[in-house]
Amino acid sequence: MKSFTDLFKGTGIEDALLKKEFFSLILSCSLFTAIAFLVEALIFRKHLLCVAIYITMISFLSILVFAGKKDESAFMQKKRYISYSILMGCVLIPAVYLVGGGIYSGAPLFFMMAGVFVLLLLDNALMIGVFLFMMFSAGFVYILDYRTEGLVERFTDLGGKTYLDIGISTIIVGLSIGFFLRQLTKFFDENQDKANELLGRIENAATKDPLSGAYNRRYLMDYLEECIKQVENDKLHTFSLLMFDIDHFKNINDKYGHLAGDDCIKNLVLILKSSLRSVDVVTRYGGEEFICVLPTAEDTPAFRRAEQIRVAVENTQLSADIDKTITVSGGVFMYKPGMRPEELIKAVDHNLYIAKESGRNQIVWHDGGIPPLVYAAYSGDVLEPVQNSGRRFTDASATKF
Ligand code: GH3
Ligand code: MG
Ligand code: MG
Repeated sequence: MKSFTDLFKGTGIEDALLKKEFFSLILSCSLFTAIAFLVEALIFRKHLLCVAIYITMISFLSILVFAGKKDESAFMQKKRYISYSILMGCVLIPAVYLVGGGIYSGAPLFFMMAGVFVLLLLDNALMIGVFLFMMFSAGFVYILDYRTEGLVERFTDLGGKTYLDIGISTIIVGLSIGFFLRQLTKFFDENQDKANELLGRIENAATKDPLSGAYNRRYLMDYLEECIKQVENDKLHTFSLLMFDIDHFKNINDKYGHLAGDDCIKNLVLILKSSLRSVDVVTRYGGEEFICVLPTAEDTPAFRRAEQIRVAVENTQLSADIDKTITVSGGVFMYKPGMRPEELIKAVDHNLYIAKESGRNQIVWHDGGIPPLVYAAYSGDVLEPVQNSGRRFTDASATKF
């Protein structure tokens, strides 16, 4: 069985900063309204008590604004919410009702607004108490007004001004609520933008490698799962993996330093990204090992891309500090139904291993079972399939560092 207080659990604004911002909006909106009503009371020469209540309201609200600026502690914030709710909701608004024109004043609308604010601002138990007290105050003045003839008229000279009063109150309260909602939507929009930006940064940090900007291993595993799912659901025809590893990178680091090594990693990623399509995903699998996932690509085009990348690396100076040619070795593998991400990585890594073992600076595509097509000669877009060992050995070889 739910208790009465359970009904209100988690209803208010929980976030302290959001609460504070929300409250400052309420304060500025209330101040704006109180000042407008004071001007109205002065113009229409309303009862002195009426003027006094608006001046009290303005002073009280100004003190709250000031107190919030001076002491930003959570304790002070809470004190502000409580005093606002009690004084405005239970004292000042009922007073406005009595001397500001009764049912024709802006007070009934204020009662409504104050109730909403209390629900959003205060903590559960307190909220229920103040809310009930406020409703009681509102009910009390309504009944008092209804039962006591001429009560409101003692303070207000309604007479011919009645309609004017209603009109002006409506405009002032309407403007005030409009201003509040406008600021509120602006506030939420700004916060939404900030939240989106933050989310983007968190996502970036969680999925990308800070040095090269390539996706990380965690992203690779998720992406492979996604590709496999898509193939299984007939949404994707197939996909291939390319894996590259810089040749003799340890020696490069030892000879030219780690910063020069870092340059090589960054520039290799640039080559990978610019050589591949925008749908392809470049990930940094380990130190100087990269795995690229090429959705829709079969083994032949995947191999062709890998070979293009190998040649591009060979012809590019990856670091201004390194005058020797740097090369990469690579493996290619096309997805086979039923394979898990780990098996795919193992397979492409195996092909890379063969490329390394066979002299480096080459791409190996080895398609297991069936006699593989191996491209012995590669020139531009012309590929000549040759059936032999299932490996491609270029005559190029890795530089000795
Ligand atoms: P192989 O041709 O067989 O691949 O030889 P290798 O020396 O490249 O292979 P190995 O895996 O032994 O060496 C990888 C080196 O990569 C070792 C490590 O110092 C270096 N490395 C890993 N991450 C980074 C990095 O972020 N920056 C730099 N500068 N070096 C890195
Ligand atoms: Mg290496
Ligand atoms: Mg390595």
